[in-house]
Amino acid sequence: MRIDLHAHSAVSDGTDTPSELMGAAQRAQLDVVALTDHDTIAGWDEAAAAVANTGVSLVRGIEISCSADGVTVHLLGYLFNPERAGQLLGLLSDARASRVQRIEEMTARIARDYPITLQDVYRQAGDAKTLGRPHLADALVAAGVVPNRSAAFTSLLKTSSPYYVRYQAPDPVVVTELVRQAGGVPVLAHPRAAARQRRMVSVEAIKAMVQAGLFALEADHRDHNEAARLQVRELAAELGVETTGSSDYHGDGKPNRLGENLTAPAVYEQLIAQAELQVIRP
Ligand code: AMP
Ligand code: FE
Ligand code: FE
Ligand code: ZN
Repeated sequence: MRIDLHAHSAVSDGTDTPSELMGAAQRAQLDVVALTDHDTIAGWDEAAAAVANTGVSLVRGIEISCSADGVTVHLLGYLFNPERAGQLLGLLSDARASRVQRIEEMTARIARDYPITLQDVYRQAGDAKTLGRPHLADALVAAGVVPNRSAAFTSLLKTSSPYYVRYQAPDPVVVTELVRQAGGVPVLAHPRAAARQRRMVSVEAIKAMVQAGLFALEADHRDHNEAARLQVRELAAELGVETTGSSDYHGDGKPNRLGENLTAPAVYEQLIAQAELQVIRP
């Protein structure tokens, strides 16, 4: 079984529509894919509708941007019941609104020095429900300021850039609890992705999330080198949680390819056994 538990669509900052993502999952010979858009579940229904045609099982998920002491923490939430997630969905709606303000402020700062407008950014975002730096990156690419998203992230958009602006993100321990309360299964995304930011989530913060019900740490991920993967596995063993592996596919927005990292079937079986929502099968 080929199981990839982390992928984005154009509903957040990927470039494939949810149904295109399901087609890409079929071509990548996946048996199971999780749709985990940032801070929104608006792509779930379209992806679900593509299951029968593609033959790929769908895990409905989300990747929630959290913040702990100023450090960004990404929490994957799988198969929670939206009807019992009122509080969580409220936090996400606040975060998306804060992201809009933040991108507008970042764009205003950059527009003082480079030829881009807010309109350019919204054009790039298209129908996305969650606005993020990748959309701003796409506007910079279109304006010829940088050659690609990655170049934007290592220059104007990096967290230490004078153009960078934070947004209001919820606490990861609170979000871990809310995912569990809604019948979902929480997994910490890429906990040792060193290149992304100056500070990584601390072991203390991870322990607090485990206390709150964390199921697993994402170990196999493109942003983890061999040493980081080993470290995450050791930490997971020490804390008594599982590990997952995933691509974090974003379509053409990133080099990550579907299926480049996979989750063990036994871990997947445990995960879905703990969840309130069902996997959607062909
Ligand atoms: P934001 O949540 O708006 O601060 O933007 C962070 C998002 O940008 C992450 O979820 C990644 O998907 C994306 N991202 C981060 N680094 C890069 C990169 N080097 N190239 C392309 N996308 C990136
Ligand atoms: Fe992303
Ligand atoms: Fe992430
Ligand atoms: Zn992701």
